[in-house]
Amino acid sequence: MPLRPEQYTRLQYRFKYVEVADDHEEMLATVGRDALTGDPALVVQHPGEYYRVSCPFCSDTRKRLWINHRWGFLDPRTQSRNLWLAICYDEDCLRLPERQRWLYSEVFSDVGDGTDVVLAGTRPAAVSRDFVWPGRMSHLHHLYEDHPALTYLRERGFDPVQLSHRLGLAYCFSGYPEFRLAGGRLIIPIYSDGKPVGWQARYIGDPPDKSVPKYFTMTGFKKTQYLYNLDTARRYPYVIVCEGCTDVWRVGPTAVALFGKTLSTTQRLLLGTHWSQGAAVVLLDSDAGDEGQAVYDALRDVVAQRVLVRLPDGKDPADMDRGVLNRLILAAGREQGVDLPSMFRDKGAKSTSGPATPTG
Ligand SMILES: [Zn+2]
Repeated sequence: MPLRPEQYTRLQYRFKYVEVADDHEEMLATVGRDALTGDPALVVQHPGEYYRVSCPFCSDTRKRLWINHRWGFLDPRTQSRNLWLAICYDEDCLRLPERQRWLYSEVFSDVGDGTDVVLAGTRPAAVSRDFVWPGRMSHLHHLYEDHPALTYLRERGFDPVQLSHRLGLAYCFSGYPEFRLAGGRLIIPIYSDGKPVGWQARYIGDPPDKSVPKYFTMTGFKKTQYLYNLDTARRYPYVIVCEGCTDVWRVGPTAVALFGKTLSTTQRLLLGTHWSQGAAVVLLDSDAGDEGQAVYDALRDVVAQRVLVRLPDGKDPADMDRGVLNRLILAAGREQGVDLPSMFRDKGAKSTSGPATPTG
């Protein structure tokens, strides 16, 4: 039986075909504050059971409208019906509150309020209390072809489908109340040992003014404790140390990001753990000359070989051509006595074509 029988029956009556997803899983949520109003709001760690129907707003026939089992149910903790718990993965049709209310009246019109019950189901396996996704999201490769998120990335010379498959990049349709700012942004998940530990939400395009941050990071995420893309980069004989996630997208699988211009003690230890016998290439933005030198200096006795790349004025790795960047990295290595391509050969890797395209 569905966790919310009354809602399920009503959806069947209204939409005829209803599919249950995440069968019998309870919602796991705590109460935080709505970022906008300061009112109590649900912070969803695990949304639990959903009912899928074909969206009445778009031409969807694949049941891409997901309605949570607690949607429209008066939550005593927040005194809210949480109508944001329904989302159209086809064209984001329910982003407007008017449409959320319309759907509610369509389903519950004759009673007017969710006085039904939610049954007990399966408690989700322990979810880390420190990690929460920002809202309802979709991987980039599931979005429609000319979605603004994809267009934006392509205009910057990135391949959104690859970023989605390799690095889990996603689009956030609507942020949970505590993370409203994340809605309509690119979500860049940060993994450590295969588990998500944080995320950054990037504004799509250039923010209209200074009051809108370009990046918004998960509350409580400790940037100094992690390196972006470490899980992948550690398979390679050398590592390219960059500032930000977009630099890693450009440079390729051998790169990690510091989430800034400085190297923390933990990040230094992580580099030492994986590359004590290898090489580290320091590649910060061009405006970070002194910081780049400081990171390079801090890696003495941590890695076997070091390379410091100085970029031409006004250049950041993320905005450069990948081929040009590769040549700069390899040339800096040669000048400083570190033969980077030979490390791939020594490791028996298949490709020796440069840092950005190893397949080993
Ligand atoms: Zn729709």
